[in-house]
Amino acid sequence: MKKLREALDEARQNKFAIGHFNISDWVGLKAVFESAHEMGLPVIVGLSEGERAFVGVHVAAAAVQALRNEYNESIFLNADHTHSLSSAQEAARAGFDSIVFDRSELPFAQNVSETKIAVKALKEINPLILVEGEIGQIGTGSEIHEEALQGLKLTTPDEAKEFVAATGIDILAPAVGTTHGLSWKMIKGEEQKRLNIDRIAEISKATGLFLTLHGASGTNDEDMKRATQAGITEIHINTELRLAWRRSLETAFAKERDQVVPYKLLPAAVSAMKKVVSSRLSLFSGRQI
Ligand SMILES: [Zn+2]
Repeated sequence: MKKLREALDEARQNKFAIGHFNISDWVGLKAVFESAHEMGLPVIVGLSEGERAFVGVHVAAAAVQALRNEYNESIFLNADHTHSLSSAQEAARAGFDSIVFDRSELPFAQNVSETKIAVKALKEINPLILVEGEIGQIGTGSEIHEEALQGLKLTTPDEAKEFVAATGIDILAPAVGTTHGLSWKMIKGEEQKRLNIDRIAEISKATGLFLTLHGASGTNDEDMKRATQAGITEIHINTELRLAWRRSLETAFAKERDQVVPYKLLPAAVSAMKKVVSSRLSLFSGRQI
C-alpha cells in the first residue's frame, strides 16, 4: 500500500485532490470505504477529537487496518482538528497516518511555537506521519448554522510561508474562502461557498506544500475543480455526509415503523452517504462514477 505522502504527491502531480471524509461510526466508514473502493481511488478517513472520543482511537485504527489488509486499498486515517499535544500523540501512537494539529485560535506566534513542538514530538513517534498545521479563520463545528460566517480573515502567502518555515509542517490548511458547516440557505441551494483561487495559487507557490481545503461542504463545484488546479491536494467533506445520514434515517424510520433490525434500516444511511462520497470523489478526481 502507498504511503499518504506518495498518494498526495501523485494527486499534486496530476492536479487532483484526495477526498477526506469524517466518520462517527461503522456506517460512515462503510460508506466512505465502499465508494472509494468501487471507484479505485485513494481516500482519507478523518475523525476529529469528538469523533475519536465516540468511536475510540484504537478501534478506528484497527477498523481501517482491517480494511487495508482485506482489500489492499489506499485508505488513510487522519486525526482531524486536534487541539492538544497529548491527543495528537495518542492518535500517532495508534497508527494514524496524519494529524491536523489545530492551534489556529491562538495568536500567530503562539500557534507557531506550539505547532513546531507538536511536529517534533509526533515525528519522534512515527517519522512517516504527516502533520498538518492551520492558520487563518475557517470557523468551527461541522454542523448546520443559522447563517454562513462572513468576513473571516483569509491566510496571506507571506504568513503561510513564515508559518511553514518556522514549524516544519508537511501539510497546510489555509483559510481561502470556506468555513466549517452549512447554512440553511446552502442546504436549500440558495447560497454557496466561494473560493479565492488566486490566493490558493499564491499560497501554493509561496509554500510548496500540500494544501488542504477544510469545510468544503456547500462549496461551488467549479471553484473546487479550479482549487485542485491551483494547488489544493486534499478536500474535507463532513456536514454534507451528516445531513445525508440524518435525512436518510428519518425517511427509513418513517417508512418502516415496525422495523427494529439495525442492519435492515442502516443500509439506507450507507447508500445515501455513498452517493455524497462518490459524487465528491468524482469531482475531486475527474473520474466518472
Ligand atoms: Zn476542518
